[in-house]
Amino acid sequence: MQIVVDLHIHSPFSRATSKDMSFKSLERGAIVKGLDVLGTGDFTHPKWREEIRASLVGEEGGLYKLRESGRVRYVVSGEVCTTFDYKGRSRRIHHIILLPSMEVAEQLCPILERRGSLEGDGRPNLSMTGAELVEVVSDLGEGCVVIPAHIWTPWFSLLGDRGGVDRIEECYDDQTPHIYALETGLSSDPPMNWRVSALDRFTLVSNSDSHSASPWRIGREANILEVPRLSYKDVVETIMHRKEGVTTIEVDPAYGKYHWTGHRNCNVSVPPDEAIRLRGICPVCGKRMTKGVAERVEELADRKEGVIPKGAQRFIRLLPLSEVIATVLGRDIFSGEVQKRYWDVVGKFSNELEVLTKAPEERLVEVCGKEVAEMVLMNREGRLVISPGYDGVYGRPEETGRGGRQAEGRPADEEERFLRRTKNLDDYINESR
Ligand SMILES: [Zn+2]
Ligand SMILES: [Zn+2]
Repeated sequence: MQIVVDLHIHSPFSRATSKDMSFKSLERGAIVKGLDVLGTGDFTHPKWREEIRASLVGEEGGLYKLRESGRVRYVVSGEVCTTFDYKGRSRRIHHIILLPSMEVAEQLCPILERRGSLEGDGRPNLSMTGAELVEVVSDLGEGCVVIPAHIWTPWFSLLGDRGGVDRIEECYDDQTPHIYALETGLSSDPPMNWRVSALDRFTLVSNSDSHSASPWRIGREANILEVPRLSYKDVVETIMHRKEGVTTIEVDPAYGKYHWTGHRNCNVSVPPDEAIRLRGICPVCGKRMTKGVAERVEELADRKEGVIPKGAQRFIRLLPLSEVIATVLGRDIFSGEVQKRYWDVVGKFSNELEVLTKAPEERLVEVCGKEVAEMVLMNREGRLVISPGYDGVYGRPEETGRGGRQAEGRPADEEERFLRRTKNLDDYINESR
């Protein structure tokens, strides 16, 4: 069977997270998006664990669901940041942890607690090496997994320019054989990862890292898994050992907020070759630019662009429907007009992924109007052109010659401020229906 899975999200106990996060709103968002399995996020936080226990029940096969007849299944998941010194520099790296049950989570938390408080942030800071983390997690038994998170982002990632390392072994040391998968993050896609032959043996996974329960955030990147059964073991083993059964849903990497190198204050963004020519210095103010993922991949690449390694995974490239509508309307994705249109369209299909990947053209035109329908098809066929994100500013689809004001790229911290203000997802749905 085929299932759509997003394993990396956050709870209201993580920094800069929307207060609309509850299992009720997550369930609603996941159904609207078309997800079958969602990570719980933040299992390390004692209050969110309480919430998980209160809202979810375990079922046979190690997945959880809402107590009152839920449709979505949940995997116990969380993200931690490890800080350690390596070659005279401090490294700060994010890792996703997947666990087969809440009982195992209760065993792990006291061990992690010795390395840093679990109460301050849903994504706790721990003083330990990546190898130490993998060791304590895998010691808990089968199916307890660590996946390096958004491996290319400049901050807080395995291969990131600031605070990451150049080789996976430099983080995970003798525990590297226990790493099976890598999360590629929004700013990179599989072809970029294929440039580095050291990554060939890993399964590439994609998740949303969402800080909100809204369907224009959760599932924006996800995985389509071909599994024998709907169980925790099948989900995890497919990711660990059967990468041919994993197809990722990817936004265009240019949409990610760290794709190109740039300096936001000066409105400067440049592709990798130009960044190298400028030696990373902003041509406007002379300060150091934030190195984008495209340039970082170029640095570590040992293959030319376009090489497809043996066993390369399938992926599909899709921007969220909210982005498509925002582009057609020339409005911000959080504007009332975009939200209203979104709910109008999605309400007439089973879910957003159906609209994006399957709905026939005539039906799309009938429901969404000609312009949105056309752009949905361009999105499906990979014909959208994205002006690249940089230094924390999301990339945005370029307008395709029709009228309408172009919305600006949204700096991520502005978005975070917005998310903190957002109301319950149900209010949106009620208001816009
Ligand atoms: Zn992270
Ligand atoms: Zn500058």
